[in-house]
Amino acid sequence: MSKAFEIRCSSLPRFMKCPSSEKKWKFPVHETDTEPQNNGIAAHDLLSLHVGGIPVDDDGIKIVCDRQHADRDEVAPLFWYGANAWNELKQYFDRVGAEEQFSTTMLLKVGGKRTTVTLTGRPDLGGSDVTLDWKTGRVWSDADWQLQGYNYAKRRKYGIVVWLRERSYTVIEAMPRDAFEDALAKQITLIGKEYSPGSHCHFCPGRDECEARTNHAQTAMAVITGQAEMMTAERMAEIYPTVSMLEDAIATYKAMVRERIILGGPMALPNGTEVYLSEFSKDVIDPRKAWPLLTEELSDEELAGCMRVGVTAIKDAIRAKIRAEFDGKPPKGALGEAVKVLWESLQEAGAIDQTPQSQTRVRKQKNG
Ligand code: SF4
Repeated sequence: MSKAFEIRCSSLPRFMKCPSSEKKWKFPVHETDTEPQNNGIAAHDLLSLHVGGIPVDDDGIKIVCDRQHADRDEVAPLFWYGANAWNELKQYFDRVGAEEQFSTTMLLKVGGKRTTVTLTGRPDLGGSDVTLDWKTGRVWSDADWQLQGYNYAKRRKYGIVVWLRERSYTVIEAMPRDAFEDALAKQITLIGKEYSPGSHCHFCPGRDECEARTNHAQTAMAVITGQAEMMTAERMAEIYPTVSMLEDAIATYKAMVRERIILGGPMALPNGTEVYLSEFSKDVIDPRKAWPLLTEELSDEELAGCMRVGVTAIKDAIRAKIRAEFDGKPPKGALGEAVKVLWESLQEAGAIDQTPQSQTRVRKQKNG
């Protein structure tokens, strides 16, 4: 029998991407930023009141946020999205209850040796067949394996993860139990042998001492600046404008390569391979011709699930309509007014939802 291994379900998404993230680190990083934690606790507390049938209003949000030293402006939108999502999701729960901390032990064959593997965790909510977890974090990470861990340990058929910031949710069907065990055993054999740096390093306790991560970052820096160097905050900021220019340069270069291949055929590489244009076709549906057939086959609800409505395209369409009504010479302000009226009607109908977005940009320092 080999040494026992224990892992929290919340660490599974990182572990399944990089097995060595679960090795014993000399200087493990412990999260110290309490503000996001306080906001997360407050949002969870409010949602458990709502799920328990206790009405929550703005005063209730203030009381809970004050008690948790949380930021009400941050917490309120998380709570309201979660409450709306719950109204849709509660149909999947035959009963609802807060979950207790669990610890499930299994005996797995890891590298030929029998090993005791313990899975621990605490989902937010559970029904007979389903588990639900609210996510409040600012950094998005795929949670499929966390939910698979809950499904396995709690013998549930489905896991639901609600992304309160992104305003969306995902339903994950439980994988077969032996496939889950095999995947877990395989990763355990790779601890200390396989490192796979990526965005999940953000959640790794070894991120400050991991050589693979440092090398990965240095390689990226070497590609950009021509020399391997440490990725300090100052240096990262300094090269940011160059990277933006590089993105444009790469797009231009790729367009040139494409054009050259179209004109002159594949381009040979010294190692016997060649750069060529791989051609394939993609089905594109013409909405005008497809509409009668689709509406006959699918309900409005089913069809809505297949559609994305472009905000710019809708605004352009309404402006074009007004222009046509006035033979191309609409009165001053008519286009803007038409868009405004339509947007107010859409907002009133609850058809517009805002999803928070972020983009890295450069600006003058606030206190500079
Ligand atoms: S820092 Fe990244 S690469 Fe290194 S062990 Fe952790 S997850 Fe893996």
